[in-house]
Amino acid sequence: MKTTGTCPKCNSNSIYTDATNMKRGDRCAIPISSWGKLFIDTYLCLDCGYVEEYICKEDLNDLKKREKLEANWKKVNS
Ligand SMILES: [Zn+2]
Repeated sequence: MKTTGTCPKCNSNSIYTDATNMKRGDRCAIPISSWGKLFIDTYLCLDCGYVEEYICKEDLNDLKKREKLEANWKKVNS
């Protein structure tokens, strides 16, 4: 959806994102420590309502945030 611009559930191309907006609201970030959080880009389909969420690229590439997450979250396939 993020790269194709097409909904994987209903094949609509009415996909919208807040990726370039200022982040605000309860669903805009995932807390990873008492002060740190990862901001989320949301992609949604206006036809069927399907939603996908991704950590924004700046935070994915932030080494300090990555280390914090790796220290506090459990790796699934380990
Ligand atoms: Zn859809």
